Amino acid sequence: MIKFSDLKLDKKVLNAVEEAGYETPTPIQEGAIPPALEGRDVLGIAQTGTGKTASFVLPMITLLGRGRARARMPRSLVLAPTRELAAQVAENFDIYAKNTKLTKALLIGGVSFKEQDKLIDKGVDVLIATPGRLLDHFERGKLLLTGVQIMVVDEADRMLDMGFIPDIERIFSLTPFTRQTLFFSATMAPEIERITNTFLSNPAKVEVARAATTGENIEQGVVMFKASRRDRAAKEKRDLLRAMIEREGEACSNAIIFCNRKVDVDIVAKSLKKHGYEAEPIHGDLEQSKRMEVLARFREGDLRFLCASDVAARGLDIPKVSHVFNYDVPSHAEDYVHRIGRTGRAGRSGKTLMICAPQDEKNLAAIERLVNQPVPRIEGVAGAADSVDTPTAEVEASPKPETAKRSRPSRKRVSRKTSAETETQTADTVTEQQPEAIPAAEIAKEAAPRKGRREKSEDRPARKQQDNNKVVGMGDHLPSFIAMSFDERRTD
Ligand code: AMP
Repeated sequence: MIKFSDLKLDKKVLNAVEEAGYETPTPIQEGAIPPALEGRDVLGIAQTGTGKTASFVLPMITLLGRGRARARMPRSLVLAPTRELAAQVAENFDIYAKNTKLTKALLIGGVSFKEQDKLIDKGVDVLIATPGRLLDHFERGKLLLTGVQIMVVDEADRMLDMGFIPDIERIFSLTPFTRQTLFFSATMAPEIERITNTFLSNPAKVEVARAATTGENIEQGVVMFKASRRDRAAKEKRDLLRAMIEREGEACSNAIIFCNRKVDVDIVAKSLKKHGYEAEPIHGDLEQSKRMEVLARFREGDLRFLCASDVAARGLDIPKVSHVFNYDVPSHAEDYVHRIGRTGRAGRSGKTLMICAPQDEKNLAAIERLVNQPVPRIEGVAGAADSVDTPTAEVEASPKPETAKRSRPSRKRVSRKTSAETETQTADTVTEQQPEAIPAAEIAKEAAPRKGRREKSEDRPARKQQDNNKVVGMGDHLPSFIAMSFDERRTD
């Protein structure tokens, strides 16, 4: 088994890794660090949770060990799709570079230009940024990218979904042709392939399986939900969520609850709070300071439930998340992979449960195709349809089913925006319950179960057994706009 000390990393980096408590390199680290240290371009196909941040930060620190930062000319650049992810890379950098004198600046929306300008003026070794904010600085003449020796693109597939690819291409063209490029993506969509063919030079390709989807450390389940009546659907769904949480009992020490729409993130958080659960929302419409505060509380164990939208939670590395609830079936199958990857991190076990309404079944089928396995159906969960949930502003706030706005989501960026603003591009589909063909209050068959009681999960027969050794989700990526049906409604 390869050890960190076999990887020719700088001694100071090795010490920091040891102090972080890492024993052996993860597969992406084992594959990416040696070619990166040789100065080669790297194409890493891996998602968060695999240790990919260290796979580019550790060699970067080692390579930058020699030489000094010059004013306004960062020596390396890390591009991340969202503020949170960029902030997380910065945190990782601080851990791994703590024994060195290397400096960094974080350029993200929601943080004042002034302070970041000051740092850049002084000269930084590593600049960590979201693409829009980086270009804003560049256009204000505050930054020169001609000194960039190493450029990292993290979560390129997410950049594609968020419409950042033109920015990435522009940034590539502003950096020297001789730079080293470390490029990471969870999937290889044709557009991503095109970018890598254009901007990477004979890269070492390192591909790791999507541990989060096929890994046995995450137990998955889905509860099929049918509202008894259309006008009670939203309330019954919230009741069901609470029943699911209760069933998990103390095993559910904390959880991220994903909703497809920001409005539901707020409603679900408010509803949980009303029922005595500690819950806070996190999405792109909230102030950056509020988002950071909520995240810090969740990370530190002060907050049990984080209700989140996809973009807000993208790539978040919170090591101890016992459960992920999908309040809605994500409309892009790949979001399921990202969402459930918030639990079962760093080798821990985790559990994920999802609510699937009849109109979500086609999206569930798409997920099962992507992860190459059926998601076990869980039966007998009390929907607690008869429990008391007095109508309040929270219920009123629940959006009425709209008349369909049938527009395709644009993959082009309308303007350079922060991750918060672009959030609507990925969290845009409506999941408000549709009229039910069969008024069935089956979920209420059983009273709310006692705390700590475990359900029997029932595996559905596999729909189609495919080659289990295949790295799933690779090579057959469909851009989300193609996969999206015209029936899907948008709210943005
Ligand atoms: P990432 O995929 O970069 O988001 O990393 C996921 C988590 O794994 C983070 O909490 C890291 O601190 C942790 N991690 C990264 N590398 C290792 C390693 N070699 N051993 C144990 N944990 C690691």
